[in-house]
Amino acid sequence: MSGTILIVEDEPKLAGLLRDYLQQAGFTAFCLGNGIEVVPRVRQEMPDLILLDLMLPGRDGLDICKEIRTFSGVPIIMVTARIEEIDRLLGLELGADDYICKPFSPREVVARVKAVLRRTGNGQTVHAEGLVLDESRYRATLGGHDLDLTAVEFKLLQFLAANPGRIYSRQQLMDRIYPDQRIVADRTIDSHIKKLRKKIADASPSTELIHSVYGVGYKFEPS
Ligand code: CA
Repeated sequence: MSGTILIVEDEPKLAGLLRDYLQQAGFTAFCLGNGIEVVPRVRQEMPDLILLDLMLPGRDGLDICKEIRTFSGVPIIMVTARIEEIDRLLGLELGADDYICKPFSPREVVARVKAVLRRTGNGQTVHAEGLVLDESRYRATLGGHDLDLTAVEFKLLQFLAANPGRIYSRQQLMDRIYPDQRIVADRTIDSHIKKLRKKIADASPSTELIHSVYGVGYKFEPS
């Protein structure tokens, strides 16, 4: 297995140990010890997975995880020093992919990293009409053109494209896009779909991927 792993850990010895084990397993790994540096480096380097310690100088892991999720679906494994903390973290629905408690064996961490990468794939899926969705970057291209989607538009397109031909109601799409049950108006979905279709049409005028089904909702269907 290969890929770039970002280790966010403020104990240099532990960070170095993890880096050595991950490199031995075939990964490229780099370490950051201060919370402030994480988001800019993630944007810049686009790692394939992040091991994120909860307690960090500068900025805490929860905050960092939340911000990363506004622009990237990169797999994140949260690391905490307290086993009781894991239940609370799960309850917060941060969008992390796994949790590890300290102390851990580096071997166990490598196994978890591999398992999460296997489960999440390399993040890239290819759909009909040359549509490529890269989940780790929330990036969609159509025939090589970047669609420049927002995180919500990306999730909407990804969900519809994963189930071609199937019709979804506005409510079903909202439940999918806003799992926190935030109250949003029906029109919100219509407005996201409208923008999404415009971006698709701008990239390729002859391609229609998202169709509205009168009185029911929307479906993804290549023309
Ligand atoms: Ca720490």
